Amino acid sequence: MALSTSMVRRAVSMSPKFDMTIGGKRVAAEQYAPIRNPSTGEVVGHAAVGDIRHLDCAIAAAADAFNTWRLSSEVARREACRAIAQVCVDHADELSKLLTQEQGKPLKGLGSEFELGGCAAWANATAELNLPVKVLQDNERGRIEMHRMPVGVIGSITPWNWPLMIAIWHIVPAIRTGNTIVIKPSPFTPLSTLRLIQLMNDVLPAGLVNVISGDDELGAALSRHPTVRKMVFTGSTATGRKVMESAAASLKLLTLELGGNDAGIVLPDADPKAIAERLFWGAFINSGQTCGALKRLYVHDSLYSATCEALVDMAKRVKMGDGMDTANVLGPIQNERQFNRVVELVDEARASGATILTGGRPLGQGYFYPVTLVGDIEEGTRLVDEEQFGPVLPIIRYSEVDDAIRRANGTEFGLDASVWGRDQAAAQRVAQQLEAGTVWINKHAEIAPHIPMGGIKSSGIGVEFGEEGLAAYTTIKIISAAF
Ligand code: NAD
Repeated sequence: MALSTSMVRRAVSMSPKFDMTIGGKRVAAEQYAPIRNPSTGEVVGHAAVGDIRHLDCAIAAAADAFNTWRLSSEVARREACRAIAQVCVDHADELSKLLTQEQGKPLKGLGSEFELGGCAAWANATAELNLPVKVLQDNERGRIEMHRMPVGVIGSITPWNWPLMIAIWHIVPAIRTGNTIVIKPSPFTPLSTLRLIQLMNDVLPAGLVNVISGDDELGAALSRHPTVRKMVFTGSTATGRKVMESAAASLKLLTLELGGNDAGIVLPDADPKAIAERLFWGAFINSGQTCGALKRLYVHDSLYSATCEALVDMAKRVKMGDGMDTANVLGPIQNERQFNRVVELVDEARASGATILTGGRPLGQGYFYPVTLVGDIEEGTRLVDEEQFGPVLPIIRYSEVDDAIRRANGTEFGLDASVWGRDQAAAQRVAQQLEAGTVWINKHAEIAPHIPMGGIKSSGIGVEFGEEGLAAYTTIKIISAAF
């Protein structure tokens, strides 16, 4: 990235420091890491680099707060969730700008303001969810009740693609069910989470929500810590496996939301023009850096050219650039490691004979990579077999629907999938056969706070959202009485 030394020096000296929050107090670190804007290379701010002592303090503060919060009323828990929602609303302007600067996503469209709106919506909706006491038996032999109890201190580890939304997905159900939490954001995007949790602590009892920032090793130490009773992790499958291993020694509960390689199948009766826009945003939301984005598209022979043309047409109309410019609806790839991976996957596909329908070369500044559609490609190419997590979509031709289903399922992943067609019954039949936690029909990547979401196979363990997601933050206690 071409930046003069004096520009970098000026940005570094002006940028603010972001501290951790432990037990309701701001906690400084000995060291701070510069966090750069992926669009410009400028330093946005400096994030505290926490160590094992900070981790121990944060867990002790959460354990201390749990002693009181576990006994809190339903009303207090709901109010805490609503207070978190209000923080997201009141500070949406500041937080969305910070998010755009550190993550790269645009302020507008399906970007930072949308993410802050989602945070508030999820927190408010989770406040309304219920896990009532269930009476399992009530007769002359006695009364047996099933209660949902908080687990204790929750450890949360988040990725860099939707840092605030995912933080809210971890924090709010934990608090709603009487737990306390220590969260560690991704070292690529810690600033907005550090700031959000500072602000939350102005309205919540001390110690309920604690944040420590630092490198991957801090995440490993959090997942190993014996006081932590449950880990909720969102990130790659490889790291999810490590979290599971670390959690095994103290038999923690686990929710793992991991990688995906979502397939979409366009059936022979679909209308390519009518579905192009939904297909496009299903794949390219957040420049493709979304776990549940469309990552492989299987299109029937008879519609292949028309579908490719409609998508290329969409690609030519969307604007990509610095997210602070409100005309842009797509931003850069968030970091160098991911950028290099995307470049490599497309170059390999090209070398193996695939056709680059549009895009295919870095734009030459920041980590911008254009929307790239790749045709004449099949399994056996890494771009199809692996999760690309960038603005690239391989479009694969098929002639038999059963064959497309088999190929869509032929992966270790099982996060989501989609089916596109006009005949409802035919689409439902295909949906039934796809191996995924969610299958959409004529849409992709649509989620809501009352609908459970989670992957199968290597895409995860457990679900988030809805009553099932909330229950995952509790253990069952049976009270069995004979009077
Ligand atoms: P990542 O696995 O590299 O990192 C995620 C987090 O784990 C970071 O905070 C990191 O510091 C921490 N970490 C790294 N090593 C660790 C260890 N040994 N123990 C504990 N923590 C450790 O993932 P990423 O690159 O930040 O995110 C991209 C991945 O996340 C993609 O695969 C994507 O599909 C997945 N993702 C999944 C969902 C979902 O809901 N299923 C949502 C968003 C992202």
